[in-house]
Amino acid sequence: MKLIIASNNRHKLVEIKSVLRPFFGDIQSMSEAGIEHETVEDGSTFMENAVKKARELAELSGCCAIADDSGICVDALGGAPGIFSARFCGHHGDDAANNLLLLEKLSGEENRKAHYTCAVALAYPDGRLVTSEEYFFGEIALEPQGEGGFGYDPLFYLPESGCTAAQISPEEKNRIGHRGKALRALVAKL
Ligand code: IMP
Repeated sequence: MKLIIASNNRHKLVEIKSVLRPFFGDIQSMSEAGIEHETVEDGSTFMENAVKKARELAELSGCCAIADDSGICVDALGGAPGIFSARFCGHHGDDAANNLLLLEKLSGEENRKAHYTCAVALAYPDGRLVTSEEYFFGEIALEPQGEGGFGYDPLFYLPESGCTAAQISPEEKNRIGHRGKALRALVAKL
């Protein structure tokens, strides 16, 4: 059965395709499937947003659809930016501005604990739904380090690895990261 991924983010596409390839013969991004659609992400949780994106795309395409919603939750900020991670600085997807604002907000703060959350939803055209949610724990570094990954990765310090999420390989990020774990948990339910 054909699966369409509710994202055009190339980092997410690579991760989702590699985990789900054994289960779906044909996996396409929205742009590969020729679908232009933007879900209004007005849920109050990662899961509500992921389910809404997957359901809308499954209805629109008549195919299976998978969506994830993810973000970073910082303990000292009461879990912010959370579902607003992509637009923390006020406009969408400006990683540099988001990271700068995060460092400013944590200036002088000793509690640097944070975690990424990833909610994944797989919707079938007949209405069936499979979901999973996983986490990736770390700390917010004092300054960015590393060129890999995306988003908040240069600031996401992993005490056990002694480096940031932008300094580990994509394979390692997939193995220990929130999205890889959520996708594998979802696959275990299929
Ligand atoms: P989404 O595309 O609506 O799920 O927004 C996710 C936002 O959360 C991204 O724009 C990043 O700012 C942040 N984010 C989620 N996952 C990651 C990750 O693995 N690394 C770095 N930032 C992430």
